Amino acid sequence: MPPTLAQRLASSIRDVPDFPKPGVMFKDITPVLHDPALFAEVTAAMARPWQGKGITHVLAIESRGFLFGGPVAQHLGASLVPVRKAGKLPHTHVTEHYALEYGEDAVEIHSDAIDAKSLVLIVDDVLATGGTAAATRRLAHRLGAGVAGIAVVIDLAFLPWRRTLAGVQVETLVSFS
Ligand code: AMP
Repeated sequence: MPPTLAQRLASSIRDVPDFPKPGVMFKDITPVLHDPALFAEVTAAMARPWQGKGITHVLAIESRGFLFGGPVAQHLGASLVPVRKAGKLPHTHVTEHYALEYGEDAVEIHSDAIDAKSLVLIVDDVLATGGTAAATRRLAHRLGAGVAGIAVVIDLAFLPWRRTLAGVQVETLVSFS
């Protein structure tokens, strides 16, 4: 049997121990980007569950979410909306803070990017605690938009993203435990 997409992804994604700090096993997706056929297959597979669901906007989370969010938006015929870390957006925006292991971070979206007529899909590379995706979901809700769900390449099953995102449809391509 030929290897599944999940198996091919698992062999392509590179584990970098202790990056960016001791104790973190960083999942490096750059080898996936280097393989044109695999990258195309990944973004098509990320979009597939959401075809025909009326997605109007893809909210791509800085920074690796941008790489996957662009092609996914094009597959879905949806607008691409960057969700940026604090201080990067030039125009009027809203901000949501979320907790990190030590301290906090924030994500922002332009206030005119989505509205009550929008149905959004949130895209990123990795789900760990789910805190970034949950804050992005709150940004969408604050602007009145509906959130269809979340699409990522990788989920880390040993971290609490399922609890953080309870009740949200989450689609992932490969799970590490
Ligand atoms: P979280 O908010 O904890 O779900 O973390 C998700 C964000 O942090 C995503 O934007 C990921 O790119 C990044 N991230 C968290 N953990 C990892 C990891 N082990 N390897 C690569 N990226 C990670």
